[in-house]
Amino acid sequence: MSDKPKEGLDRRDFMLASLASVGASAVLAGSAGAAKAQETATSSGEAASGTSQGTIYTGDVIDGKKVVSALDVNDLAPGQKHHLYFQGVEMPSGQHWHVSVTVARGEKPGRRAVLVSGVHGDEMSSIHTVQTVMNQLDPAQMSGTVMAVTDVSRPAVEGMQRRWPNQGRGIDLIDMNREWPGNENGATAPSRHAGLLFNRLLRPNADFAIDFHTGTTGFDVTAFNIGGMDVPEVKAMVELYPVGQIFDNHVYPGVLHNAFMDVGIPSFTPEIGAARVLDLEMVSLFVEGTMNVLKHHGIVSGPMGRTAKDVNVFVGNSAFPILATAGGLVEHLVKLNDKVEAGQKVAVQRNGFGEVVAEYVSEVAGEVTGQRSDAMSEPGNPLVFILFNNPAPAGAGAYPE
Ligand SMILES: [Zn+2]
Repeated sequence: MSDKPKEGLDRRDFMLASLASVGASAVLAGSAGAAKAQETATSSGEAASGTSQGTIYTGDVIDGKKVVSALDVNDLAPGQKHHLYFQGVEMPSGQHWHVSVTVARGEKPGRRAVLVSGVHGDEMSSIHTVQTVMNQLDPAQMSGTVMAVTDVSRPAVEGMQRRWPNQGRGIDLIDMNREWPGNENGATAPSRHAGLLFNRLLRPNADFAIDFHTGTTGFDVTAFNIGGMDVPEVKAMVELYPVGQIFDNHVYPGVLHNAFMDVGIPSFTPEIGAARVLDLEMVSLFVEGTMNVLKHHGIVSGPMGRTAKDVNVFVGNSAFPILATAGGLVEHLVKLNDKVEAGQKVAVQRNGFGEVVAEYVSEVAGEVTGQRSDAMSEPGNPLVFILFNNPAPAGAGAYPE
């Protein structure tokens, strides 16, 4: 499978239909059975069952932080914060990709939250949101535990790019948010990395989980949450965020929050504006919402902050994509969060002579939820996504990404 079609599909973080990349990881899976995952003190069978296998310290210490290859947050001292590195998959050099793990273990027992960022490497506001929440926590006052993993796709984070540069046949760029729940014996390092994290770090420590994202390089989005609002536990959490839009949709398999949902752990995905930058104003909304969620679960005490009700949230179950039909410079006629009517012109495109070569119209009434920010486009790229309510939702597969 060439990179070209994947490049097109991967433009969007939150929209749907990544059948191509799901297929790509499945192709070789059958032949990989003989390849063993990294050695650990317990079998991968136990790990894959989702039951805690306890904490395994490798004996390594990096920059003063102990390295683990499996973690049970209940093994850590209560009333404290802990900084650890989780030993991920090996690089071609034989060294490991380590990911940063922060645990705020409450003085008293309670529910366990998992906060994730860095599944895509160019989404800085998501990382900062998780860090800010963790910095606000006082374990001595908490009932329960919050674990944060901030840099899941380490090589992508190092390059501040969306996808993991994988040493396959030359460099393949692999979207980590199509790999979950991963496979410890998978055909690629990212698949194995996902399997190690999911089985030994994320799933065993989560009563609920939030996987933070942003738009992607070249395509900005509003502040919104993605989740299946027909699941009461998810709806209750999503509605605690004072952000303006909710995308009520189960989206596609392979994304991390769906891997949690598939094993019975309520989960959803916040989207925090543009990639590559820190949008501190938007970050503060998601910090407030996440603190509300921790209060909702009794982990943190105190009064609720603002919620979706306070911002007149717009809920849509579908995202209407407007795709470029020509090459050229794109001029947007609407802004993020604008309400649009069916038939409204939302963008024009000009060729090298400045002649208008395309005019783009929304076919639905809704709100602008994403816009291409790279001004130049070729045919097929999504230019705008309109969040709207489809009386007969077409399902996850109906949308390009
Ligand atoms: Zn993302």
